[in-house]
Amino acid sequence: MSDIASPDLPVSASPASAVPKVGFVSLGCPKALTDSELILTQLSAEGYTTSKTFEGADLVIVNTCGFIDDAVKESLDTIGEALAANGKVIVTGCLGARKGEDGGNMVAGVHPSVLAVTGPHATQEVMDAVHAHLPKPHDPFVDLVPPAGIKLTPKHYAYLKISEGCNHRCTFCIIPSMRGDLVSRPIGDVLKEAKALFEGGVKELLVVSQDTSAYGVDVKYRTGFFDGRPVRTRMLELVQALGELAEPHGAWVRLHYVYPYPHVDEVVSLMAQGRVLPYLDVPFQHSHPEVLRRMKRPASGERNLERIARWRELCPELVIRSTFIAGFPGETEEEFQHLLDFLREAQIDRAGCFAYSPVEGAAANELPGMLPQAVREERRARFMAVAEEVSAARLKRRVGATMQVLVDSAPALGRKGGVGRSYADAPEIDGTVKLLPPQKLSKRLGVGEFTKARIVATDGHDLVAEPI
Ligand code: SF4
Repeated sequence: MSDIASPDLPVSASPASAVPKVGFVSLGCPKALTDSELILTQLSAEGYTTSKTFEGADLVIVNTCGFIDDAVKESLDTIGEALAANGKVIVTGCLGARKGEDGGNMVAGVHPSVLAVTGPHATQEVMDAVHAHLPKPHDPFVDLVPPAGIKLTPKHYAYLKISEGCNHRCTFCIIPSMRGDLVSRPIGDVLKEAKALFEGGVKELLVVSQDTSAYGVDVKYRTGFFDGRPVRTRMLELVQALGELAEPHGAWVRLHYVYPYPHVDEVVSLMAQGRVLPYLDVPFQHSHPEVLRRMKRPASGERNLERIARWRELCPELVIRSTFIAGFPGETEEEFQHLLDFLREAQIDRAGCFAYSPVEGAAANELPGMLPQAVREERRARFMAVAEEVSAARLKRRVGATMQVLVDSAPALGRKGGVGRSYADAPEIDGTVKLLPPQKLSKRLGVGEFTKARIVATDGHDLVAEPI
């Protein structure tokens, strides 16, 4: 099936008009047709019109089919015709996802002058390509909104949500019943938002979700598109791409809510290469296999101590933050001791702990062996005493080192000192680096800027440093 332009869209025949015009060819099955409808709807919503001819358009989109040889030929021929008549062609659809004999993209191999190639279900990627080559008409209602949207965090750091919901059913948690199963955001959308944030001045991007390591499971790690190139919807590829986007801006990427699955080793290797911060927020919750089983924790079968040892071998700079629950129903003194031993042996840099508290609707409420609140609180206090001992010892090792610090506050341009964070400190949850007034009179500190600082002391959970 082939159509040029949708009858429902305003059609303009004059190339001289100021309204941008797009030629559209839709080939293939009903699924491809619905993709075409979504793209045409978006074009219309943004004020583009369509052209009935290739020649009268400012740019042509060809939605292709790659199912059988005849369909491939028809798609490639149509792209060729559009290129000959117009010159500016964006290709989307099933053929866009196919590889050629050389392993590269088939369409780009046959028609190297196409502007962009995406796979199917890629409205946003197609729109990104359209925007790059044919700017959308000005919309006074929307164009005043910053490209990265409205953020509630300080200008220099931002949270990037990569998915919603969770496929796990931890017995103490009701998030899945409120937010449903895991739904990963399309990788093209996530990377587009990250790019806009970096371009808008963000110096630290914090990746968040309920389970960052599960990113893409729900879409079977589908290949998405960003900037005209294919990227799989998977944690490793996401982290790699975020590292690449951050690099030209000298920005940090920090990962939260990562579970200790084997594939995280590859992400830790990226940390060792300096692509993303060597910092992992891993909510272990407990160490004893029986408690983890009662909690129904993800990755509960993993040997976490071995995994952590492997991570530290791959990336000695790695900082691990985690949260734990003390006094879970049925937790014996022996199981609790196991947790304290784990904490010491794993050398968790930053640990938080909650005394177990029943949440209405959580399955754990039905478990036998609920402990008295006093016992739960007492275990939490004992846990925190060990956690602080470990953390303080690890912090002390930094004294004398020079670290890169991102400045969060610097009254009087830092002449009286300021407060910042190193790669080891996530905002709001970890410690800080207290910056002393710089010794060099010309030295200034700016909020949202990096400074080098020599660590001179520790102060509880914080470091004290001299800007240099
Ligand atoms: S605690 Fe468990 S169920 Fe709840 S969001 Fe985290 S992984 Fe999912």
